[in-house]
Amino acid sequence: MKQPEVSVGIVTGQEMSFNLTGQYTAKGETVSGEHKVCYKEGGINWNGTLYQELTFNPSQKDNCFSLNDVTIGIDFHWERKETQVFKGILHIIVDEGKLCAINILPVEDYLVSVISSEMSANASLEFLKAHAVISRSWLIAQMKRRKDDDKNHKDNFFSFRKTENSLIRWYDRDDHTLFDVCADDHCQRYQGITRASSPQVITAVKETLGEVLTYNGTICDARFSKCCGGVTELFSTCWEDIDLPYIKGKRDYISNPPLKLPDLTQESAARKWIESSPHSFCNTSNKRILSQILNNYDQETTDFYRWKVEYTQEEISSLINRKLKSDFGEIIDLVPVKRGPSGRLQELQIVGTLKTFTIGKELLIRRALSETHLFSSAFVVDKEYSEESEGTSPRIPSRFILHGAGWGHGVGLCQIGAAVMGERGYKYDEILLHYYDNAKIDKLY
Ligand SMILES: [Zn+2]
Ligand SMILES: [Zn+2]
Repeated sequence: MKQPEVSVGIVTGQEMSFNLTGQYTAKGETVSGEHKVCYKEGGINWNGTLYQELTFNPSQKDNCFSLNDVTIGIDFHWERKETQVFKGILHIIVDEGKLCAINILPVEDYLVSVISSEMSANASLEFLKAHAVISRSWLIAQMKRRKDDDKNHKDNFFSFRKTENSLIRWYDRDDHTLFDVCADDHCQRYQGITRASSPQVITAVKETLGEVLTYNGTICDARFSKCCGGVTELFSTCWEDIDLPYIKGKRDYISNPPLKLPDLTQESAARKWIESSPHSFCNTSNKRILSQILNNYDQETTDFYRWKVEYTQEEISSLINRKLKSDFGEIIDLVPVKRGPSGRLQELQIVGTLKTFTIGKELLIRRALSETHLFSSAFVVDKEYSEESEGTSPRIPSRFILHGAGWGHGVGLCQIGAAVMGERGYKYDEILLHYYDNAKIDKLY
């Protein structure tokens, strides 16, 4: 197999301007410098002529083009526009009354860019190599899926189950149809060569050239999250009701004999686990390691291995009623219904004075109980009552205290754990095989 090329959707708009540094060919002409295109009557207006699509091919590999006014951080507080610079091909197409700029480039170049912008430059080489393999696996699986979808359309994909008393839904990435991946956080943040790539990342990508994670000859769905909380989670706790043979609930630690794995699907064990701070790779407060994973380390909370969130009755009832768009009245209880092996709640029953309703899966629970989202759904609930409520029925708590563990869905690779492993001298294949059970590293090209 030859190294494939990936198409990345960069920006859409009624018009766009760009600058070609060096020579490019487009529609049989050699061009360079400033250009402007705009949407007109269903086509692309370039220098007064209408086209269905335009491709600007660099004459030399090192040529680059800059695109003006690319919006970055869509829907984040730091959303802004900037000029971005790219290598490879600039492809412009028409999509629903707008233009769409796509960058086509070799997979390995794309990986250097996304891993450089996601990871801190001082991360260990073995950790970066592990990350390169899972990013590549995700990307190539995504590209394959899109090709297959093009051929035999999409299966009907149900992402929720609703009954009178429950809503169990999960959020999986919708695939793109016009390009393989987008440049935003929805897929992986990609800014071309706007910022310098880190030399350590270039080495990590080079040393793992073409390597992906496979199981039985198929590329693994190599998910990862920030911090598992001590035990990794199953796929079905977060997404579709399927379980992947290489994704297991296991303790994030390697020792001989192995540390005991308590049955965290049981309430009493889950409480004991979450209220303690058990030994694991991701149980670290090492500033140097944490700053490798957390881009804005100085601004972020670092107590995510074990965390606590408190609400008054007014806060939690207003939050839940708003988030779930339903009137529960006052909240009487939050009852765990089903937990996965890491202690993460897959289903939670909300008991209100007006309504009792069960929600799932983990992301819906995290969104319902926070203005943004909770660190994770691995939490236990304590309630406090005021003296005045004594003897009333039902007794309404005045406060809810959530004690939680971990950050993110906990499925697959635990980034903090993997960074600690890298620091402790584990090799990238050992890191990968710790988190993806019985998987294999295959070299595609
Ligand atoms: Zn996307
Ligand atoms: Zn972990």
